[in-house]
Amino acid sequence: MTGKYLRIIDYKSSAKNIDLNEVYGGLQIQLLTYMDAICKEEDIIPAGIFYFSLLEQMVKANKKMTKEEIENMIRKNFRMKGLIIADVKIIKMNDKELKSGSSKLVPAALTSSGTINEKWTSGVTKDEFKVLQDYIFKTIKEISKEIFSGNIDLKPYYKKGKTPCEYCEYKSICGFNPKIADNKYNYIPEKSKQEIIENMKRKI
Ligand code: SF4
Repeated sequence: MTGKYLRIIDYKSSAKNIDLNEVYGGLQIQLLTYMDAICKEEDIIPAGIFYFSLLEQMVKANKKMTKEEIENMIRKNFRMKGLIIADVKIIKMNDKELKSGSSKLVPAALTSSGTINEKWTSGVTKDEFKVLQDYIFKTIKEISKEIFSGNIDLKPYYKKGKTPCEYCEYKSICGFNPKIADNKYNYIPEKSKQEIIENMKRKI
């Protein structure tokens, strides 16, 4: 497809990745919101949303390594994380040197015959990406409506047995107690990519 392609890169001081379960729970909406906002204003084709970690990289080794091996390892650790559009042309636009194997730049890999290596690619199809955009747009509308209607209910997330309340400094004053009828967690699911996208489709 010809047109103007766009990828968004967020430079972080921590290691971060995109978790579709968190997107579904409304916890990770930032990069998708940016992409959707631009798509609504301009005629662009999404190419991916990525995080680039600015953390100083440490290399662990159980044998003596050459300078080149160390540099390769560091470069590998700087590979961006996130979500790419699973399309060979778009993957190659994101990494012009990629012929086969894993990309050193983006979370994608190609087989020796040049097709997408699904196992090592963190990707979604163009249609699936559109579902994510529509879902995020709907989520933002719902959040805005709640804010404007004055709803400030406490709803901390609950993911794999963890909640932000564990280390929260305001615990003693906020009064959140999941045993009280109206105090409910925002439960983050643990579903596969396909299940999450199907759930999103049902909600948009
Ligand atoms: S203790 Fe209260 S303020 Fe802190 S994260 Fe939990 S619900 Fe939010």
